[in-house]
Amino acid sequence: MDIYDFLVIGGGASGYFAAINTKEKAPHLKIGIIEKQGKVLQKVKVSGGGRCNVTNGETDPKILSKNYPRGADFLETAFQTFGSKDTYSWFEKRGVKLKTEKDGRVFPVSDSSQSIIDCFLRLAKGVDLFLKTRVENLERDGELWIIHCSDDSIFKAKRLLIATGSDSRIWSALHHLNFKIEPEVPSLFTFQIPEPELHELQGISFPNATVRAGKILQNGPLLITHWGLSGPAILKLSAWGAYALKEKDYQFDLEVNWLSEKDIRKVEADLKAKFAENPKKNVRMLPYGTLTQRFWNYICVRSGIGEFQKGAEAGKKQIAKLLENLTAAKYKVSGKSTFKEEFVTAGGVSLDEIHVETFASKQYPNLYFGGEVLNIDAITGGFNFQAAWTAGWIISSDVSKK
Ligand SMILES: Cc1cc2nc3c(=O)[nH]c(=O)nc-3n(C[C@H](O)[C@H](O)[C@H](O)COP(=O)(O)OP(=O)(O)OC[C@H]3O[C@@H](n4cnc5c(N)ncnc54)[C@H](O)[C@@H]3O)c2cc1C
Repeated sequence: MDIYDFLVIGGGASGYFAAINTKEKAPHLKIGIIEKQGKVLQKVKVSGGGRCNVTNGETDPKILSKNYPRGADFLETAFQTFGSKDTYSWFEKRGVKLKTEKDGRVFPVSDSSQSIIDCFLRLAKGVDLFLKTRVENLERDGELWIIHCSDDSIFKAKRLLIATGSDSRIWSALHHLNFKIEPEVPSLFTFQIPEPELHELQGISFPNATVRAGKILQNGPLLITHWGLSGPAILKLSAWGAYALKEKDYQFDLEVNWLSEKDIRKVEADLKAKFAENPKKNVRMLPYGTLTQRFWNYICVRSGIGEFQKGAEAGKKQIAKLLENLTAAKYKVSGKSTFKEEFVTAGGVSLDEIHVETFASKQYPNLYFGGEVLNIDAITGGFNFQAAWTAGWIISSDVSKK
């Protein structure tokens, strides 16, 4: 049986990036990838709605790392070695032209994830690939790793990378090797709110809303959907609250400030002024700021404003109710829904187990971890792939040095 210098379990973003960079840096090494599916890079293929949001335009490691609810400090250090700027030039140097959109997300100019895949496949020449092969168990024979697969095949490797993404079936093998693993919970999901009146407003969006669940508060664009709420503000809340919301079985109170204006006293003064200036007009015909007539009508109904109530008749209590429904509207969330563009899993191998300089295990210097198998995850915006590329690059540097 051949012994691999470097063997990768998982032909996804992180594993593939590690393998091709190691081949580039040390062409003499015998490298292999074991992948349980019939094809590699399947998540890259569907990522970003088929466009692959490859990284983010933010280049400062300190600021970039703030987008990771789990793994921020670890990655701040790792990004000094290979950050988003390095990712950008890595792809451009290898013929994949990139562009940065207004919100900071970086995509291939082709708007197709296939450009990334084609580039990776081209660079993987000389790397052995074993498809439809699931790794089930790992053991050690002296310094060598012995890898047992579902089809009874066995591999031997001097250095091994586990890059199995969010598939937690490898965890039992890792438990046997005494790894500390943080429990797996979903991140990046949207909220179900069983309120038909809200669902009727599906499609209405707000540029800079604030959402709060308990002590966790997030800002950003917000979207009403036919099941509840979505948009970057909700996704960020789901990521930062991944463990807390799981604990509540996704049944919790949500508070929403729909407005970009955060000064509540100013909102109150504006409402009063508008009603005073239009004493004979129906309140329902006097939308606040740039809110749509449909949404204002919903706010009025929620606040108990009658159909023919005039501006002059809006009393203190009603203004307080309108203010509450605009800036601190209360909802009962009853569950979560998948955000199809991107979803990730929080949890995985504890970062206490990993050397940040090499992504190698502290217990076993010739065992590496990269990508989502680690307890690292981010909000949307290209940050999850960036973590995968960073690990892949750093691992390839260490493996090719030895
Ligand atoms: C729909 C969707 C869209 C996304 N879009 C984006 C985006 O645009 N930008 C972004 O930054 N992030 C995006 N993400 C997140 C991103 O895809 C992941 O964070 C990233 O793929 C993680 O890389 P990885 O290498 O750790 O895992 P993966 O890419 O999932 O690769 C793991 C690989 O290991 C294989 N494997 C697992 N267990 C075994 C085993 N026992 N034996 C052999 N092989 C095994 C799997 O089949 C898989 O191919 C998206 C996620 C989803 C689900």
